[in-house]
Amino acid sequence: MKRRVGGLETEYGLVCVRADGSRALEPEAAARELFRPVVALGRSSNVFLENAARLYLDVGSHPEIATAECDDWWELVAQDRAGERILADLAAQANARLAAQGEDARIHLLKNNVDSAGNSFGSHENYLVDRRGEFTRLPAALLPFLVTRQIITGAGGVVTEDDGEGGSRGRFVFSRRSDHMWESVSSATTRTRPIINTRDEPHGDATRFRRLHVIVGDSTMSEVSTWLRFATTSLVLRLVESGQVLPDLRLADDIAAIRAVSRDLGGHGALELADGGTVTPVEVQQRFLDLAAPLADEAEHEILDAWQRGIDAVRTGDLSWARTHLDWAIKKTLFEDVAARRGLDLASPQIERLDLAYHDIDPHAGLLSRLQASGRAVRVLPEERIEAARTTAPTTTRAHLRGQVVSAAIAHGVDHVVDWTTMRLVRQGAMPVTVLDPFATESSEVDALLAEIRSRATSAPPPA
Ligand code: ATP
Ligand code: MG
Ligand code: MG
Repeated sequence: MKRRVGGLETEYGLVCVRADGSRALEPEAAARELFRPVVALGRSSNVFLENAARLYLDVGSHPEIATAECDDWWELVAQDRAGERILADLAAQANARLAAQGEDARIHLLKNNVDSAGNSFGSHENYLVDRRGEFTRLPAALLPFLVTRQIITGAGGVVTEDDGEGGSRGRFVFSRRSDHMWESVSSATTRTRPIINTRDEPHGDATRFRRLHVIVGDSTMSEVSTWLRFATTSLVLRLVESGQVLPDLRLADDIAAIRAVSRDLGGHGALELADGGTVTPVEVQQRFLDLAAPLADEAEHEILDAWQRGIDAVRTGDLSWARTHLDWAIKKTLFEDVAARRGLDLASPQIERLDLAYHDIDPHAGLLSRLQASGRAVRVLPEERIEAARTTAPTTTRAHLRGQVVSAAIAHGVDHVVDWTTMRLVRQGAMPVTVLDPFATESSEVDALLAEIRSRATSAPPPA
């Protein structure tokens, strides 16, 4: 599949603390406060937005935004970042309400994966794949890529280890989430935390498509890291789909390997192959890059270039590019710098706070936005593009249709119910309009629905 649809689901961590650091509201109460305006507008804590994304509160009080379907990975990053802004605004409004009640507490939303209690939550990548053909081959072929991908796209972080002398010390790793993965492939998302989830819910024409659910990724803050997750994985999918005979890189133990790779900052440790022999994380990534390269078109050379730079950074230890582009390297540089200056161990609470601040999506308080402002981390997308993506759906996929319907319905105050494939007005006898092709951008049925929305516009202005 050359053109591919993908979407990113991000669950956010939520804390509500007072100025002195003590916990104010419990997460459930804070989440309810956060979603107050959403529920007031949509009468539900599960809504679709003007940009065709889904915003919802699942069990466990982790607010989630699932971006609309994108077929361009920079557009996906724009939509993902727009989601951050939407949630950051909800947090700012909730904090203003708390302040008005005399409550000295602030809600912080963290785009990370592990909370202080050790719970892990997700950042799920969705890729459209063809139902015919290679789906049964996909997991085995993809797993070695996904297990080692963290050396490029891991968010980085610190784990605590025994120092061998009865104490403990901090160790920087590519991905803390790696320690929370328990299975390679499964159809369950939560209980067993597989790397790939095979639940068959295509959100589209089930005779033609499947949706591949990749659960293993860290939530990434750097635009380049997020973009590379989708851009490289999509190229590897194209490689597998090409049907060519690929080298057998199946690992003997994916779960043991993913933990080892996370700790192997040089990327040169031996991983056992299922069929005997060994391979290193850097070699696996390089093999996939080399095999995928001939399938990339001119415009995709940008992907190959960044991917290669990421591999080289690990192979050589020269972080001059990575330390401003990739989350793990930005964080490693910062943490080691601060630890050295203040004489701290990486496991110290001060470093832990820096880590949380890095993932704080508040555009003012968040650490990454400050690093970007001072040139210590790159920003690729102009602010206007992110702003526009808050209210504009991707124009080259089905999301374009959904975005128009939701925008019109909100503007005209017309009750509606929408999901990934269907759109319906809330009135007796209303028939749902179904769009099963994720690539569809035109539909006469949707045009008719839009006409009806405009004609049914109430004279009352939409609720503020
Ligand atoms: P849940 O998270 O509630 O278990 P879910 O896995 O269906 O359900 P959603 O949170 O609703 O996930 O998000 C679905 C994601 O899949 C969105 O990011 C969306 O853009 C993307 N998506 C929708 N249709 C397709 C498709 N046909 N192929 C690939 N991705 C898709
Ligand atoms: Mg979801
Ligand atoms: Mg999901």
